[in-house]
Order: sequence, then C-alpha cells, then structure tokens
Amino acid sequence: MEKVEILIIGAGVVGLSIAKKLSEKFDDVVVVEREESFGRHTSSRNSEVIHSGIYYPQNTLKAKLCVRGADLLYDFARENNVKHEQCGKFIVATSTEEIPELEKLQQNGELNGVKNMRIVEKEEIREMEPQIHAIKALEVKKTGIIDTHGLMRMLAEKAEENDAFIVYKMEVTKIEKKDDSYIVQFSNGEIFQAQAVINSTGLFSDEIAKMVGIDIQKANLKLHWCKGEYYKDNHISGVKRLIYPLPDPKGISLGIHLTINLNGEVRFGPNAYYIDELDYKMDETNKKDFLQAIQRYITIEKDHLHLDDCGIRPKLQGPNDDFRDFYIKEESTKGFPNFINLIGIESPGLTCCLAIAEKVALLLKR
Ligand SMILES: Cc1cc2nc3c(=O)[nH]c(=O)nc-3n(C[C@H](O)[C@H](O)[C@H](O)COP(=O)(O)OP(=O)(O)OC[C@H]3O[C@@H](n4cnc5c(N)ncnc54)[C@H](O)[C@@H]3O)c2cc1C
Repeated sequence: MEKVEILIIGAGVVGLSIAKKLSEKFDDVVVVEREESFGRHTSSRNSEVIHSGIYYPQNTLKAKLCVRGADLLYDFARENNVKHEQCGKFIVATSTEEIPELEKLQQNGELNGVKNMRIVEKEEIREMEPQIHAIKALEVKKTGIIDTHGLMRMLAEKAEENDAFIVYKMEVTKIEKKDDSYIVQFSNGEIFQAQAVINSTGLFSDEIAKMVGIDIQKANLKLHWCKGEYYKDNHISGVKRLIYPLPDPKGISLGIHLTINLNGEVRFGPNAYYIDELDYKMDETNKKDFLQAIQRYITIEKDHLHLDDCGIRPKLQGPNDDFRDFYIKEESTKGFPNFINLIGIESPGLTCCLAIAEKVALLLKR
C-alpha cells in the first residue's frame, strides 16, 4: 500500500491549481486522474474566458473567488508566458426593456469590487464594434481570454517542479476512513493510504463524496449535469471584444455569447439544458435557437454556422432551483477531517482556479 500525505483526486484546472499551491508547502502531494492526461473533461470544454465577477450575488464564493481569481490568473499567465489577452467585453441591451437589467449588473459588479466598467451609448458601440447591434452596452475591461490547455500544462509543470506527482489512468473506486487517514482504492487494484484527500473531480465530485460516506441527498449536494454546445462561424472577423447578451434570468447560464479565441476566430455558445447521461455527442437540433439568439446582436448567415464543441456543467442548481454557490468544505463536521470536497465548480471555475487553491490551502488542517 502506497502512503501519501495529500491525495488530490482529479487533474482538471482546479486539481492542478491545488497541486501547484500545496506542493509549495508540503513534500508529499500526489494527483490521481482517471484519464490518460489532464483536463479531458470540463476544463477543456469551456469558453476560456477570464471573468470579472459582475454576475454573482454579493459575498458568495463565486463572487469573491472570481474577483481574486482573475487577478491571480492574469499575474500567473503574465509571469509564466501562458497565452492570454485582456480583450474586454460588452454586455449588450438590444431593446429598451433590457436597459434596467444592464444597470443592475453594473451596480452588482461594483458591489463585488469589479473596476473599470462603464455604460457605452449606441453611437460609440457602432464605432468600437461596427458589426454589433445594440442600443446600450456595459463595457467590462477586466474580462479576457486564456489558453486553458497552456495554463494546465504550466500548472502541472510547476507542481512537478515542486516534486508533486501526477499519475494518470488511476480511477478512484472506493474510499474508506480508517483512524486518522483514508484508504483509497483504484480500478487497477492499487491502494493508497492518504492523510488528506481533496476531491476535485468536477462532474463526479458528488459520487466521490458519497464514496467516503457523505449522504449527498441529505446534504443537498447532488449534482445536475447541464450541457452547453458551441457553434463557430469562420466568416466573421474583426470583432475585438467578447459580446454577451443579458444573462438568463434564472441564473442557469450567461446566454449564448460571442467569444473570440487567441487567433481571433469567432465561436458562439454555450446554450444550456439539463441531461441525465454524460454524452459529448452533438447534432444540429438547437441550431435554430442559436440563430435566433445570435441574430439579436449580430447578423450572420445560417449556412456559416457550424457545430463546434460542447461541455457539461457540474451544477448544484437543479432545473427549478435558485442560485447555488460553489461548495468548498473541509468535512470535519461530517466526521471526515482533512477530507475537502469541491462540488458544483461550474463557471467561473476556470477564472477562480488559483483563488480556489488558496482557499483549499487554508482549509487543510496540519
Ligand atoms: C460550457 C462551459 C463553459 C464554461 N466557460 C467558462 C469560462 O468561460 N470561464 C470560466 O471561468 N469557467 C468556465 N466554465 C467552468 C470551468 O470550465 C470549470 O469550472 C472548470 O473547468 C472545472 O475544473 P475542475 O478541475 O473542477 O473539473 P474537471 O476539468 O472536470 O476535472 C475533474 C477531473 O477529475 C477526474 N476524475 C473524475 N472522477 C475521477 C475518479 N473517480 N478518479 C480519478 N479521477 C477522476 C476527471 O477525469 C477530470 O479530469 C465553463 C464550463 C462549461 C461546462
């Protein structure tokens, strides 16, 4: 049986950030990942946007970790040559009824500590983004884009420089608390004994919490999977910043937005619908809805829109629920000291990754 001090389950952007942070302080940090390499799930299937923190209710983890996380992420990317660009974004109002919502978002952003926002009028929108139809826009300068794969590669490199190990093709199948430690079993028959376990398994994090003995129904920690598809349009060029509609009023998604990648290519998405099975297959069922949503703020040709990719959100918020925050807890009160659960790390989890790692380091008891 392999003995480790800290076992991190999951090598997505969050698990790797935690590995980097903890390996600065602890000698024996091991990350186990069931896939053949890092970031095969949500961390490589997202919009790659560094969010500013305007959307989330005040004093929630999503708000606080997003504002802090964006600063940490820009610094990390700059210092380590991870490709990124602080391109800014417009959230657009396309009818007068939407203007009060735009102003509310600005106020919420200010309360969350987001700086450098302003309302832009129609004439200036036309000068700054001639292709965009909007009567007013909220400009958020803090927003940007990042090469997520490059970020994860750098995080893994930094963790390994600090002597952390990242082991692939290691799927956790059973966890048992034994005295002051955890016995963790893998599908390949290996067994580890860990003094601390960090569950950063994204879409599967409720199942891992269940394995250790947490009643996830009773604790209200059952995850709901919510799919988001993307389309691309190779005919659009020259858009300089990200373009977002107003967010979905129920808080399920930020709306079908236009993102540009670091090569200036344009993508639209994601939409949002709940699913029961993990399935990354796509077809054109929702193309009509995409066209309708996009045509409100930019003119595109139906035939120029092609299926691109999709991701799945691990949401604590079910179809009829109100806002749910990230769940990041050390589980002593449930009888599992030094077992840290990260559940419901949906958007803005990429932006928050380094701030989440700071929080986890504080939660860990020696
Ligand atoms: C459509 C979409 C768009 C998004 N856009 C943005 C955005 O623009 N900006 C932003 O900030 N955030 C965005 N997000 C959110 C962001 O992508 C996630 O919050 C983040 O990637 C979560 O990372 P993670 O490491 O927690 O999870 P993951 O990347 O899913 O990593 C979890 C890992 O755990 C592994 N694992 C699971 N079970 C086991 C097991 N039993 N044993 C071993 N390993 C296991 C998995 O294989 C996986 O590699 C978006 C999400 C989606 C779905």
